[in-house]
Amino acid sequence: MKIKSAEFVVSNTRVDQCPDSKLPEYAFIGRSNVGKSSLINMLTGRKALAKTSAKPGKTQLINHFLINKNWHLVDLPGYGYAKVSKSTKRTFQKFITAYFEKRAQMVCAFVLIDSRHEPQPIDMEFMQWLGEHNVPFCIIFTKADKMKPKALERNINFYQEKMLESWEEMPEFFISSATSKLGQEEILDYIEAINTE
Ligand code: GDP
Repeated sequence: MKIKSAEFVVSNTRVDQCPDSKLPEYAFIGRSNVGKSSLINMLTGRKALAKTSAKPGKTQLINHFLINKNWHLVDLPGYGYAKVSKSTKRTFQKFITAYFEKRAQMVCAFVLIDSRHEPQPIDMEFMQWLGEHNVPFCIIFTKADKMKPKALERNINFYQEKMLESWEEMPEFFISSATSKLGQEEILDYIEAINTE
């Protein structure tokens, strides 16, 4: 898919204030600092559509972007940042889970995982929750350029082994780099294929 247009629509803290639209939407989520904003900018070919930040945990909003005038890319808040208070964390949880429970037009969630890290309980628990709530999702392993190819392969194999301890099969997954644009075509084509089904 070629990105012809990408526009910011609105930021919300509440699911019921999200755009009143039937357009299919694709949500991007992951731990703070996983590289979500960089990935969104890379996918859309826009330098600062999503705001990247050196200060993790800043984005606490549901951001809607209209892509090619026919689907929404949704930037969800990062979860699991250690330095936010417990009550802030609960708020994240609440509106993240509310989003997935209520947003019928949500087609697929992309869960971002830093390819350098071992499987983290919070990501595993989050994917477990998605599975239990029948939310379709894929994994995107980010920041692939930060690893040597062998080490990257080893990490992803290890991740698959861990996932297969509790999942019957590995969800669809992609490997990305915001600096080399690795994964851009595959992820956009995947979205396009679902949109034209
Ligand atoms: P977010 O908090 O998940 O939105 O993460 P950001 O997109 O703001 O990225 C966090 C940090 O990781 C920033 O310093 C980015 O420059 C860096 N980063 C993000 N993606 C990549 C990537 O693919 N490669 C490299 N080398 N750095 C990245």
